[in-house]
Amino acid sequence: MIKHPAWIEIDLKRFEENISNIKWYIGNTLLCLPIKANAYGHGLIPIAKAAQKAGVDYLAVSCLQEGSLLRSSGITLPIIIFGPVYEDQICNLIDLDLEFTISSKYKADLAQSICEKKKKKAKVHLKIDTGMRRIGVRISSAFSLYEYLQKSDLIEIKGIYSHLATADTENDVFAKKQIEDFANFSNFIKGKKPVFHLANSGGVVYYPNSYFDMVRPGLLSFGYFSNPHVLVKPFFSLKAKVGYFKVIEKGESVGYSQSYIAPKRTRIVTIPIGYGDGYRRSLSNIGSVLIRGKTYPICGNICMDQFMVDIGDDEAYVGDEVVLIGSQGDKEITLQQVADLCKTIPYEVLCLFNERVPRVYKHNCKYSLVE
Ligand SMILES: *Cc1c(COP(=O)(O)O)cnc(C)c1O
Repeated sequence: MIKHPAWIEIDLKRFEENISNIKWYIGNTLLCLPIKANAYGHGLIPIAKAAQKAGVDYLAVSCLQEGSLLRSSGITLPIIIFGPVYEDQICNLIDLDLEFTISSKYKADLAQSICEKKKKKAKVHLKIDTGMRRIGVRISSAFSLYEYLQKSDLIEIKGIYSHLATADTENDVFAKKQIEDFANFSNFIKGKKPVFHLANSGGVVYYPNSYFDMVRPGLLSFGYFSNPHVLVKPFFSLKAKVGYFKVIEKGESVGYSQSYIAPKRTRIVTIPIGYGDGYRRSLSNIGSVLIRGKTYPICGNICMDQFMVDIGDDEAYVGDEVVLIGSQGDKEITLQQVADLCKTIPYEVLCLFNERVPRVYKHNCKYSLVE
């Protein structure tokens, strides 16, 4: 294990608790776990393995590349590819047993001609656009595409799905209309039905009639969409070790462009992580960190690999643990607070941490500690 002074701590026991609480909450509905974008920054493979152990029914990723990583790590669960597929990927998708999205006759024909050559069947999910306007066939053409796919001996329709655009708020008119349209379509399909799925985290939390046969909560599973009914907790912390300590005089500046000027003689510590790791530069002069159980402000512009913190007259030593997201003592810096300061959403903050920040997995003796 290579030591690195900034890391992300992932508590897999809490993840398993989240999954078991969600499973209890959704009852007999199947659970598909979206783990695109490196499992929302939590680490694709360890999360996939933990999900498999926790009894998740399906995994979902965005693209062939992510699906292929899962298969080469021995993940055997069914996997859906949410994104659009391309002609030159279909062969690999089929060989890796990845279930991919079909949302046009054009893509269906491409898949069929490749299946014909390979003498193998493709497993697909028909994507219907009920209002997201991203990918998906319009409801008005969905039935004919469904029938077309159904007639083919080369295509197996595993699922039919759509995606909610506004389910992160309760009682939303547009979300209700999407659910209603999807339900109407599902009533059209006679005989043996594929798996119908619609709900993202917002759907699971706020719209029980969006469940159908399977739900796809991403952010909720990572602990960030808690409400009184579904108890989940975050299990992601960003930590580092103090790398340097110095005293600066009143009027001296800190960092690039001198964006911070010390209002008095003060103590500065340097933290070894920056925007080159995915720690957003927009936190410059407005973010904060926890050291020795207290909150301190980031001072100066965040650099590519380091940033500075003003600890006033307090004490801190090289090697002290710094919490950038998560808790220390009775203090906490939440992902939501960080996202608000960056004027973005929690999803984006999580996804931007790159491979330079090692993920350290706690409560997990089955596989290696560091990915
Ligand atoms: C990302 C994604 C989800 C999960 O969304 P959350 O908001 O994280 O629950 C579900 N379905 C599709 C198609 C997605 O792309």
